[in-house]
Amino acid sequence: MTQAQDQTPAIRGKFTTATITRREDIAHDLWKIWLKPEQPFMFKPGQYCTIGAGGIERPYSIVSSPDEPEIELFIELVPLPDGNLTPILYEMGVGETVTLRPRPKGIFVLQPSYKNHVLVGTVTGTVPYVSMLRKFLNDPAWPESDDVQRSDHRFFVLEGASYKHEFGYDDELGDLADKHDFIEFLPSVSRPDEEPNEGWTGATGRINTLVEDYVAEKGLAPADTCIYACGHPQMIEDVKARFADTDYHFIEERFWKEDD
Ligand SMILES: Cc1cc2nc3c(=O)[nH]c(=O)nc-3n(C[C@H](O)[C@H](O)[C@H](O)COP(=O)(O)OP(=O)(O)OC[C@H]3O[C@@H](n4cnc5c(N)ncnc54)[C@H](O)[C@@H]3O)c2cc1C
Repeated sequence: MTQAQDQTPAIRGKFTTATITRREDIAHDLWKIWLKPEQPFMFKPGQYCTIGAGGIERPYSIVSSPDEPEIELFIELVPLPDGNLTPILYEMGVGETVTLRPRPKGIFVLQPSYKNHVLVGTVTGTVPYVSMLRKFLNDPAWPESDDVQRSDHRFFVLEGASYKHEFGYDDELGDLADKHDFIEFLPSVSRPDEEPNEGWTGATGRINTLVEDYVAEKGLAPADTCIYACGHPQMIEDVKARFADTDYHFIEERFWKEDD
């Protein structure tokens, strides 16, 4: 054993592995990977998996629908010296393996007792919503609900990013919105005047500042509507505060803590 291997922290407990079968870089610090798990990996749309390399593990929300054979992830690099796992993952390519905890986790899942799903995310924070929409479109028996007929569900994806090239799933979400009148997609860039956003003709401003007006414009009643917020903790705090004194149901998934 080399000295480097000797110093690698061990991952304790039960884990399996998954092989990277594909990688797509969408910006210098954002990329997608597809993982083929060594064992079948069952999860609900919106849940996350825990992967590891070099003895370090982190949770990642899953982009793919549970019906797909591979696990798709969308990852943002947190550069050294702050980042721990992502600088390692960033160097990994097709054919390499990561560790995978055998079970998914998370309760940030579709709330089927509401008709309207307002899905607010920042960059990688749209990941759980893509999984939910893919599943909804793939599986006519999903979601099960005693309260809401399947045909009454409506999805409103609101995605915020600093720059337009950070929208990893805008083509897919835009296509879905064009094809289905029960899906709407509003991407917004928060730095419209900066050079990378040249030519942007869509919405502008931080996504958290647009949600309230959007919900009002669409006439979404509190009793029928769940507001979801995922990704950047400040965005989540702000959306939560905006709906705190209302009857809207609110759920969240924070990808990191502000004081970390
Ligand atoms: C439930 C859950 C789901 C997640 N899903 C995803 C996902 O789909 N895609 C994804 O890229 N990440 C996701 N994350 C974050 C992920 O788990 C890692 O924290 C992240 O990839 C950074 O890992 P790291 O080891 O390099 O840095 P860490 O050691 O985790 O973090 C180093 C520092 O950077 C901060 N930080 C972590 N992530 C970010 C970020 N994106 N931007 C700015 N600062 C950050 C941390 O708070 C800490 O201060 C998720 C986290 C949780 C809790």
